[in-house]
Amino acid sequence: MHRGGEWVSNTHAKAASGDAATAPEKPTAVAKHNGKRHRSKPFGSLRSKFSLFVLTATLMTTLVVSLISTHATREFLHSRVEQKLPSLLKQTADKVKLWYDQRLHEISVFASASTLIGAITDFTVHGQEQSRKEAERFLGYLLQNSPKFSALFVLGKEHQPIVWVGKQLALPREFLDRNTHVNGTSLSDVIIADDKVIQIASSPLLEFQETKLGTLNAILTVDSLEQHLKASELSDTALMYLVDSNGNYVASNQPIPIDYATMQELPSQPQEPVLKEYTNRKQHVVGSALFVPEIENVLVVEESYSENFAPVVDIFWRTLAINLGIALLFSIGAYRIAISISRPIEALSRGVQQIAAGKTNVLIDETSSNDEINMLTRAFNSMTARLHEKTKALQKLSVTDGLTGLYNHRFFQLYLSKEEKIAKRNGKELALILCDIDNFKLLNDRLGHGEGDKILERVAEVFKRHTRTSDVVARYGGDEFIIVAPNTKLEVALELAEQLRRVVADKVSISGEPELRARITMSAGVATFTHDSKTLFNDADQALYRAKKAGRNCVRAVGIKQVEGIA
Ligand code: GH3
Ligand code: MG
Repeated sequence: MHRGGEWVSNTHAKAASGDAATAPEKPTAVAKHNGKRHRSKPFGSLRSKFSLFVLTATLMTTLVVSLISTHATREFLHSRVEQKLPSLLKQTADKVKLWYDQRLHEISVFASASTLIGAITDFTVHGQEQSRKEAERFLGYLLQNSPKFSALFVLGKEHQPIVWVGKQLALPREFLDRNTHVNGTSLSDVIIADDKVIQIASSPLLEFQETKLGTLNAILTVDSLEQHLKASELSDTALMYLVDSNGNYVASNQPIPIDYATMQELPSQPQEPVLKEYTNRKQHVVGSALFVPEIENVLVVEESYSENFAPVVDIFWRTLAINLGIALLFSIGAYRIAISISRPIEALSRGVQQIAAGKTNVLIDETSSNDEINMLTRAFNSMTARLHEKTKALQKLSVTDGLTGLYNHRFFQLYLSKEEKIAKRNGKELALILCDIDNFKLLNDRLGHGEGDKILERVAEVFKRHTRTSDVVARYGGDEFIIVAPNTKLEVALELAEQLRRVVADKVSISGEPELRARITMSAGVATFTHDSKTLFNDADQALYRAKKAGRNCVRAVGIKQVEGIA
């Protein structure tokens, strides 16, 4: 009848769940917002530091790239302007020279016309008024076919006008004085006559014997130069103008007031085009000038700086916008990566804190990825699972009797004091059954401690099988067992004790020694809770004493005179 038994017992397990110290805990998931969050300093967390670093790095790169590309674009545009304006100046200077050459050629051809020389000779030498009229008619004809001249006139030796066709102007004294000395075809400086800017081309009128009769002069319509100062390469607001050596404005591609023409920023007689940036007409301009020695004028070209360099600003903002977009994307990506790193680390740290606080069933959410963090999380989870198992096993061991697998004395004390509180609070019934094997010492002495242990195991097995799930069975010590039966009246407890006594007497035997079978019996004392656990135990002990005294193998209870057992 002696049978070996396993430690795990329903009774035991169920009873154990009643204890707060050993109650099975549900694993705590800490991946999300579990536990206290520490209030972190701004930018103190790993994710803020990482995101801030990436944001700063990308922003710096953005700025550097934008500045470099802007600088490169500016350099490119500058070199383009450096090429464009000087080459434009040279081309235009050639056209202007050609225009003046044509005018000077025309005036010299006109001055050598025999009709004109004859008529002027007749008038000046012979005083024939008719000849003067003839010369006037001839010049009128020439003027009609020369739209580049606004007037043609002949000045005599005394520099008085002899013949004048076309627009009348009062000529300044200086011009007349200088005109006397004209020996070859020449061009005057810019003259301001009647508030108009003019230039006069002069050629000497020579008699057949090379005697100078006077000069033939033509007032140039410099306005017609304007078309040569226009260039498709220039923007609409660009200025191209000619100034004479005194800085007087001659002609321009735009109708500008005379005093707007300025040479203050540019060299006065630049032999090669020089590029400069300066302010003219309250505008930031980029300009270049070239001295044209043939006409002793300076050709100037000016373009608005902002128009030339508008792409620089445009490119700067575009690059900045694109790079900022990229920086933003990178920062968002970095933030997400940082979160994917820092969240599990935070969960791990909370998990460690919980373990430090005494919790062992701590689990952290795992992901399917195989990254280092998830590997760490898995390792942490398997570590905590093992820790939890070990802790549970230790907890079990700490409340278990090593020989019988029943609860031990320590657990009994804890459980009884807990049940005492419940009984006091709720006034519920609480019964205690104290059992002791009869003459166990004798058995031990005769059969040895090993056999004695087996008997203890078998008796424990009976208790496990024949008690209710609500009862807690413990080995009190030696050959004494104790049963705590909550919500149990004295009669019911007596019945249970009697049943146990009977089963032990019937079923527990010594292997190989049938003649000793009748000797394995137990006695039991039963008591119910009155006012405290100490009294309860003493009552049960008292009852057990009475059972022993009554001849053993019987049950006694406090308050009941006698319950006889089977002999
Ligand atoms: P009674 O009927 O009055 O109880 O007589 P008894 O001989 O059983 O006396 P008691 O209960 O005082 O004796 C208990 C004995 O149990 C004493 C000790 O030798 C024995 N014992 C105590 N613990 C163990 C144990 O773990 N194993 C074994 N084999 N024997 C034990
Ligand atoms: Mg005994």
